[in-house]
Amino acid sequence: MKKPIYLDNQSTTQVDPRVLKAMLPYLKSEFGNPASTSHTFGTQAGKAVEESRAKIQKLIGAEEAADIIFTSGATESNNLAIRGVAELYRDKGSHIITTQIEHKSVLNTCEYLKAHGFQITYLPVDETGLIRVSDLKRAIRKETILISVIYAHNEIGVVQPIRQIGAIARAHNIFFHTDAAQALGKIPFHVGNSGLQLASVSAHKMYGPKGIGALYVRRKNPRTRLVPLLFGGGQEGGLRSGTLNVPAIVGFGKAAEISKKILNSESKRILKLRERLRIGLSSKLDEVYVNGSLEHRLSGNLNVSFAFVEGGSLLDALSKKVAVSTGSACASSGTEPSYTLRALGVSEASIHTSIRFGLGRFNTEKEIDDTIRYMVQVVKKLRRESAVYERHLKDNIK
Ligand SMILES: *Cc1c(COP(=O)(O)O)cnc(C)c1O
Repeated sequence: MKKPIYLDNQSTTQVDPRVLKAMLPYLKSEFGNPASTSHTFGTQAGKAVEESRAKIQKLIGAEEAADIIFTSGATESNNLAIRGVAELYRDKGSHIITTQIEHKSVLNTCEYLKAHGFQITYLPVDETGLIRVSDLKRAIRKETILISVIYAHNEIGVVQPIRQIGAIARAHNIFFHTDAAQALGKIPFHVGNSGLQLASVSAHKMYGPKGIGALYVRRKNPRTRLVPLLFGGGQEGGLRSGTLNVPAIVGFGKAAEISKKILNSESKRILKLRERLRIGLSSKLDEVYVNGSLEHRLSGNLNVSFAFVEGGSLLDALSKKVAVSTGSACASSGTEPSYTLRALGVSEASIHTSIRFGLGRFNTEKEIDDTIRYMVQVVKKLRRESAVYERHLKDNIK
């Protein structure tokens, strides 16, 4: 059976064949533990880890390679950054500012801290999905120790004004963390220019393997200290104990190297495909609404509401042809309406008809054209069966 067209690249991406090739030796002959420095098995593995660390350092513009701490992914990095700062700097203050549209790994870490005596401010967003800098300024108190804002959004692709937020955080001497899982390798991103002390990233969102990510932790000017989540052998500067996942780290490094090289041309190519999809759909169907800013957006994201068609039925009808998501695939119960779209003020009805298209490296123009054709077919068919749509048409004729 032919596989569906994969348009769910904000959920995860296919491992790039070059990444797989780089990883294979480390799953075979190069199996050493980097902590075993008394023989070449260990030292070779250690060398590979440090090469990968340097590649990720270059991609994000960190001052030192040691600023990159390997973790199991962005979920762990978000937990480590937020809990790590909160627990270490609790004496300085117990207030944290974040947004209503963060990934669950940020929101639920903040909820945990709230249950342990911290105060959390969840900034709202405007109808385009952007936070208002004036809201942020107003939320800052003398007890504020951390600001955490998602860089590029997993559902709507909206990119927040990270530099502006960084400047404000710096001026107030507040730590600034960003969840950059969707940003790394997709948009130019430089931790030094952004006033960031902490940034969470993940390999499987950028054509690397699953189960590996990193937390950028600025070591100097100012120094950022954290309480670790895991205690043990003291790997990763004591911030993340446990034997390093060498094959995955090598894959992550290769993915970073490739992204650095092709980021600009790739993002232009994907934007063209995205616009082809958007214009194709909205020229052939009525009542199609894009959710979130088109201007401040990842090139590979399109989140659209198809009025009068229930998202679940749409997904079912498409599932053999096109792999997409509705709401947030990151929440285990995928049917819960999206809190992100709600925060944008999208109506409940529109939330239920929303589809996220995530375009990526391996998508072709033909796949986009086929997707437009299937979508138009399915949406028209479902609308023909919809009494609400019929009524809407009648009302519009009157
Ligand atoms: C995927 C994602 C995460 C979680 O990353 P994992 O590496 O899968 O744990 C966190 N934040 C955002 C914005 C994501 O897209």
